[in-house]
Amino acid sequence: MDEMLELPFFNDEQRSFARELDVNARNHIWPDPEVVDPGQALLTALRTLAKAEVLKFAVGEPWSLRANVLIREVLAYHSPIADLAFVMQGLGGVPISMFGSDEQKAQVLPGAASGEHCLAFAITEPEAGSDLTRVSLHAEKIGDEYVLNGTKHLVSNVGVATHFTLFARTGEGNKGLSAFILPASTAGVEYEQQPGVSAHPLGRIGFDDAKLPASAVLGEPGMGMKIALATLGRMRTTVAAAANGMARRALDECLLHVTQREMFGGTLADQPIAQGILAEMRARLDASRLLTYRAAWQFDKGDDRIPLEAGVAKWQSTENAQWIIDKALQLAGGKGTLKGSIFERLYRDIRPLRIYEGASEVQQMVIARAMLED
Ligand SMILES: Cc1cc2nc3c(=O)[nH]c(=O)nc-3n(C[C@H](O)[C@H](O)[C@H](O)COP(=O)(O)OP(=O)(O)OC[C@H]3O[C@@H](n4cnc5c(N)ncnc54)[C@H](O)[C@@H]3O)c2cc1C
Repeated sequence: MDEMLELPFFNDEQRSFARELDVNARNHIWPDPEVVDPGQALLTALRTLAKAEVLKFAVGEPWSLRANVLIREVLAYHSPIADLAFVMQGLGGVPISMFGSDEQKAQVLPGAASGEHCLAFAITEPEAGSDLTRVSLHAEKIGDEYVLNGTKHLVSNVGVATHFTLFARTGEGNKGLSAFILPASTAGVEYEQQPGVSAHPLGRIGFDDAKLPASAVLGEPGMGMKIALATLGRMRTTVAAAANGMARRALDECLLHVTQREMFGGTLADQPIAQGILAEMRARLDASRLLTYRAAWQFDKGDDRIPLEAGVAKWQSTENAQWIIDKALQLAGGKGTLKGSIFERLYRDIRPLRIYEGASEVQQMVIARAMLED
């Protein structure tokens, strides 16, 4: 981590924690693995993060957005799969820590912090993505149980998760969405992988008369939309941080490359057009990090309704990161496109961040609404 940590958004404890994590990651923990099997790589990263006692920050209360932002930026810089292992504990665990009963918390969260449990968050369906009101997985209450039928898809950690925070329809309208804790081994639930562009375990979940006890409901029946929005609201800024980590890595690797690559009687770094690109990469990265740190700082000082700031950070950071990584690959030339090169990996890993947890266009909608409501 660099001098940006010295900005007044952070306290000394956060600064030294981020620096230690960065040194650990660089020297010992995540030697930039080439991901062959995303599921296995994620489980390996989860064990490593557990040993480093990092996972407690994903699920612990009080929950600090600044801590989560710093951790994701550092992890994504060194290993996007380690970042994914970290954040999925939060995405699956934050709804339980915010809305779960004491019994539900005890059932899931200590295991999530120790890496024994691997968590996931399942809301997207083939016909319901950006528009969550369209969620239709059917959960019918029969006696003391809910009987589930339908399909989820594009769910991270399918194949490796032990527990899902699951959203299903128990009635009509926004008050008809409910959240459940689903143990992965539940009878009547089937999984299928959906390999994607990035190193990311992803898949479909089929429900065929799968049964969950009424005690699996998070909060009260009908609170699903509130739980989903509260969770995504917290996590959105951390997606920006992950994008910034990947973009920062791309810029560092690019600087190494351009200063070594000889051409036209000097190095690529001597070329004025290359310098212009490098300057724009740095300006976009700094802007993204400042927006992200602002949103995290505002949330941590108690302003937990920050849709505008979080939306601006997520939209700008993910779009800028894609641009920065693309330019880094461009300056790396043909070998940057070769499978396994750091530029090729970042190019694939960054792509979904502009889509998941609210696509860029959804963030634009959120930002405009927040301004117009003021
Ligand atoms: C790698 C990856 C991991 C994922 N992990 C999870 C997970 O763990 N759990 C989970 O539940 N889901 C997950 N998802 C799903 C993800 O959240 C959805 O893909 C996302 O919400 C978009 O939904 P959709 O794919 O159905 O696209 P749609 O909702 O059909 O949207 C398609 C496109 O339309 C555009 N768009 C949307 N709204 C507007 C608008 N108002 N105005 C203009 N344009 C608009 C956007 O460009 C958007 O990309 C993951 C997806 C990916 C790719």
